[in-house]
Amino acid sequence: MSDRPKYVYDFEEGDGGDKRLLGGKGANLCEMTRIGLNVPPGFVITTEACLAYLADPERRLPPGLMDEVREHIRRLEAKTGKGFGDPANPLLVSVRSGSAISMPGMMDTILNLGLNAETLQGLIRQTGNPRFAYDAWRRFIQLFGKVALKVPDELFDERFEAIKARVGARSDLDLGADELAEAAEAFLEVVRAHTGRPFPADVHAQLEAAVRAVFDSWMGKRAVDYRREFHITPDIANGTAVNVVAMVFGNMGEDSCTGVAFTRDPATGENRLFGEYLVNAQGEDVVAGIRTPKPIQEMAQEMPDIYRQLLELRERLERHYREVQDFEFTVERGVLYCLQTRNGKMNAPAMVRTSVEMEREGLIDRRQALLRIRPEHLEQLLFPRLDPGFRGRPLATGLPASPGAASGRIVFDADTAEARGRLGEKVILVRVETKPEDIHGFFAAQGILTSRGGKTSHAAVVARGMGKPCVAGAEGIRVDEAARVAVVGETVLREGDVITIDGSTGHVYAGEAPMVEPEFTGDLATLLGWADEVARLGVRANADTPADAERALRFGAQGIGLCRTERMFNDPARLPVVVDMILAETPEARAAALERLLPMQREDFYRIFKVMAPRPVTVRLLDPPIHEFLPREEELVREIEALRHLRETLAGLAVLGQALPAEGAGAEAARALASLQGQTVEQALARKEGMLAKVRELREVNPMLGHRGVRLGITYPEIYRMQIRAVLEAAARCVQEGIAVDPEIMVPQVCTAKELEYVRAYVDEIHAEVEREAGVKVPFRFGTMIEVVRACMRAGRLAEVAEFFSFGTNDLSQATFSFSREDAENKFLPLYNEKGILQDNPFEVLDVHGVGRLMQITVEWGRRSRPDLKVGICGEQGGHPESIRFCHHIGLDYVSCSAPRVPIARLAAAHARLREDEYRFD
Ligand code: ADP
Ligand code: MG
Ligand code: MG
Repeated sequence: MSDRPKYVYDFEEGDGGDKRLLGGKGANLCEMTRIGLNVPPGFVITTEACLAYLADPERRLPPGLMDEVREHIRRLEAKTGKGFGDPANPLLVSVRSGSAISMPGMMDTILNLGLNAETLQGLIRQTGNPRFAYDAWRRFIQLFGKVALKVPDELFDERFEAIKARVGARSDLDLGADELAEAAEAFLEVVRAHTGRPFPADVHAQLEAAVRAVFDSWMGKRAVDYRREFHITPDIANGTAVNVVAMVFGNMGEDSCTGVAFTRDPATGENRLFGEYLVNAQGEDVVAGIRTPKPIQEMAQEMPDIYRQLLELRERLERHYREVQDFEFTVERGVLYCLQTRNGKMNAPAMVRTSVEMEREGLIDRRQALLRIRPEHLEQLLFPRLDPGFRGRPLATGLPASPGAASGRIVFDADTAEARGRLGEKVILVRVETKPEDIHGFFAAQGILTSRGGKTSHAAVVARGMGKPCVAGAEGIRVDEAARVAVVGETVLREGDVITIDGSTGHVYAGEAPMVEPEFTGDLATLLGWADEVARLGVRANADTPADAERALRFGAQGIGLCRTERMFNDPARLPVVVDMILAETPEARAAALERLLPMQREDFYRIFKVMAPRPVTVRLLDPPIHEFLPREEELVREIEALRHLRETLAGLAVLGQALPAEGAGAEAARALASLQGQTVEQALARKEGMLAKVRELREVNPMLGHRGVRLGITYPEIYRMQIRAVLEAAARCVQEGIAVDPEIMVPQVCTAKELEYVRAYVDEIHAEVEREAGVKVPFRFGTMIEVVRACMRAGRLAEVAEFFSFGTNDLSQATFSFSREDAENKFLPLYNEKGILQDNPFEVLDVHGVGRLMQITVEWGRRSRPDLKVGICGEQGGHPESIRFCHHIGLDYVSCSAPRVPIARLAAAHARLREDEYRFD
């Protein structure tokens, strides 16, 4: 051997752990061979060979590769006792793609390779089954034609459908040897007409072309789109291997079949064999939805012995891999072969259930139970489902192929789905069946509905992987993609009509059906309980109202990390009082308005504290510039205009001694009149003019950097004092009622310790008063947001005053990059991401190298002056798993995120702890 790498490994030779080199499929074929499962013999051509081929601008196969392949073909001949290209006893093989990362259906596979006019006759003689032989032959011509010769699939389909129609066949099963032979002839014709050449007869030439085609499919549009969508970088993905596997035939008659199965139900996680099979068929038929397959349980009657073997295979796979397996099998004349296995892709509820159950069964430990679920995956649990009280009558029912419900407008092809989806429309992709080419339509759609195919059809598998609802094989619906209608009995559904699909029951409804929010199952609670036990980082939620707090608690928040008091101001009943406060000309007038707001805020805090007891609640004092509570200038100008107009109209009518007519006064005047709400026109006008003057007075060149946060607290002390009083009085009431309360008062936008000391002085004074008035001890902590770069630099000094820090990473990221978020996201960030100048959007994913470094220094300096300083983060990034990992790394105490992200954050916090040794950051 020369010094070039070994490119080809027999299944007995390959290292089952080396997915990078052998691809996932290849590595597992080796592994299954090693543990003694019945796998047909074969070999793997490595991903290194693929990369070498793709690196060559002329696309030459690496030197010596095909010689090595021939050598392994010889060994395969010896093992099977057949000859490749030998008409007396032909060896047929499949040539299959398979990369390190599973990309189901994204690349190509060719079956029955090794057939030509002579070996075909040999196969007929040898098996005495011409129907089977012609079936294999026509399949091979079509697959090879499509994959290796790039002949459009439709050209074959058209010819095949024509033959079926002529003899009145409903499926390919109804075709006999003669028709299949005729189809093969027609296909050869199609190839010749399209390529200008005869179909290649030399089996080695076939093999070489197939290997190239599989390598090429790595760079095919489908595969490239898929990798982009799922952020699979070239480094992770690393090319495809090619698996050459001796054919076994599921299409040899009634004692043969092919199928796919999961060791557990991937839709629910239930511990039972789940799958589908087709009698007298070849592998790709099941997935392609050519015929609707039978549920695997029927095999218990139809082929009891095989069924028993399958159950045993299921046990062995799970015990070996300690993970739910998704496997392919074929039965050739009563003998079961396993053709592929991989970790099962399941939806989130199934992942959660299997984690908990496999732990209980002793298959995995808690650490594995937690680590096998990607935190983002839990997002699916937040999917709405149909309101259980909904009693609509389904229009049609198909197979419940991927759970959850969705409503949207019907679209009949993936491009339309993408186009309408981009405009923000909710669409349901409705097809006879889907193909890998439709993948972009899946991304855009809320759900998928097909009229043909089973639970393991392409549509079902892909939808489950994405966590989108799918109803498959709704045979009662006649979908006419060309005419863009779907017909169910009398009902005609057109593109754009709204339907609802329920992937948990298979029901399809016309129109939009009511949905409810999901609840947490017992298993999820168990799993997240395990997560909380291992995590060091706590998880709180951002919540502004008592209702929010209840929701946060349901999602398992361990406290509230950010309660924005301004949200309470925006309540329509309170806004006028807030406006009074802003318009006040004197401190006394302002105090009067605040006096009215105080009980409202106090009540809110009381209720939030009560809901969250005994957990901590961090209340942030007023942050946004106060003009945000006033209408916009243009709006006020328009309203004033209308009021003046109304005043003139009324004056004119008064001269004539008439009242304003109910109609005809002009919509504008009527609206103005309605807005008076008990005021006279003069009063209303005066108020609006006052507001306009105030808006103009408060106008700022850059509000983000303007008169806000603690700066307001210092210029208008009454506002902060009222809020501090509301918090402390609410806490006092809790104490009086025996409710464990843990309030934290937090000051926003601080850049110097002096500001903090200033506010702290109010707190101390009011705290003493409240304790005196209430006659109880009132606990509280005082702290600051860290969202200004100077605050980071002065962390040591700030920690002398603050008992806790909370990073506001939205503002801190803006300040660190000097990007204003809206401008960045609208104008240049997408391009920055596309060009790789910035990897992510720093407002979604914490920029660990810049903002993160600043945080790390801040924590370090802060704790140097106050060792027990509590530190958290309440920016949007606090719910993002990668950011959470970083927060764990720099020793934060908690993250705070929106309530629905809490479960994700809890799992991410556990992952961060369990995998802390692997973490690298510099
Ligand atoms: P995919 O990645 O699209 O599933 P595969 O390479 O797994 O592609 O093959 C497609 C289908 O052909 C599968 O159903 C598989 O089980 C079947 N198949 C592949 N190789 C063989 C073989 N040697 N004998 C019988 N069926 C095969
Ligand atoms: Mg497969
Ligand atoms: Mg902020």
